[in-house]
Amino acid sequence: MVFSHAVVTGGAGFVGARLCAKLLEAGARVTAVDNLSTARPGALDAVAGHPRFRLLEHDVTKPIPVPGAVDVVFHLASPASPRDYLRLPLETLRVGSIGTENALAAARGARFVLASTSEVYGDPLEHPQRETYWGNVNPIGPRSVYDEAKRYAEALTSATRRGEGANTGIARIFNTYGPGMRADDGRMVPAFITKALAGEPLTVEGSGRQTRSLCFVDDTVDGLLALARSDHPGPVNLGNPDELSVREIAERVIAITGSASRIEHVDPAVDDPRRRCPDISLARRELGWAPRIPAGEGLRRTAEWFAARRAAAA
Ligand code: NAD
Ligand code: UDP
Repeated sequence: MVFSHAVVTGGAGFVGARLCAKLLEAGARVTAVDNLSTARPGALDAVAGHPRFRLLEHDVTKPIPVPGAVDVVFHLASPASPRDYLRLPLETLRVGSIGTENALAAARGARFVLASTSEVYGDPLEHPQRETYWGNVNPIGPRSVYDEAKRYAEALTSATRRGEGANTGIARIFNTYGPGMRADDGRMVPAFITKALAGEPLTVEGSGRQTRSLCFVDDTVDGLLALARSDHPGPVNLGNPDELSVREIAERVIAITGSASRIEHVDPAVDDPRRRCPDISLARRELGWAPRIPAGEGLRRTAEWFAARRAAAA
């Protein structure tokens, strides 16, 4: 299915910019709506001059003035890295609540895809996580501004579907990484790669035995597109079930970059989820989607991208 006009809130962000590029490749007209609060400067350079692309610099907590008819709205606007949402706690709650309400209104009559997160599972007591699991979130801890905002966004999306018959789909995205991330966003992959390239110690928070499942950005974007083209309501997990410990990811980054950096352990993050691994049976069955890029390949491509930027800046 070819979309004629797609709106991407958070379209200047890491995942959003890649999604905009893929939508343009597929022939769509694309409007990115973004207030640039956590975007990497230059993220949209590759698409900025495209005749079918437009950036609307706008805060989605205010009603969204969408130009013309729309057939799909992807709602990605939200700080996403722990460093960003801990710095922007109220903004994160507002974009998940008021921002989602405005994005749903902009999608009236169109397909709506919510970028939710594996964080709705909190520190999970069920492993791997299936969509039927209700989660284990601390509602008052520092991470709650993000976790609960996304849980509220899911509730709002579901209520709008039930009450107004809206055509909605919820994606629960697991840790996504790749070229295009901000070097200073504080997330594990850019932090480890930039430190390895600089020959500085990689700081592993806590024991490093906590796990994450890393999904390459192109795979995540393909999953979002597959959900948009379906009429499945979700929630559907989008992630790579290859589960690795954080310590192992640090070691892989050191090996891939050929770095002489060592690993240093620092205090654990508050309420850090101990395990994270998606069960993706639903996405395989309903969307015909599964990730294609293994962690080794994705980390190599990401490290090459960061190394090229470092070389250009030097
Ligand atoms: P990002 O921070 O790179 O991108 C988010 C974008 O939203 C930024 O460009 C930012 O400027 C914009 N934004 C924030 N608040 C806004 C507002 N009020 N109005 C308009 N724009 C606003 O993050 P990302 O990694 O690209 O994540 C994109 C989406 O996917 C987020 O909703 C995030 O919660 C979700 N997600 C991402 C991951 C991941 O690992 N990358 C995992 C799970 C869920
Ligand atoms: N982490 C780390 N060192 C860093 C950044 C993150 O050890 O420099 C750990 C963090 O404590 C967590 C995991 O890596 O256990 C993933 O963190 P990230 O911020 O990438 O995403 P999260 O899954 O917590 O949202």
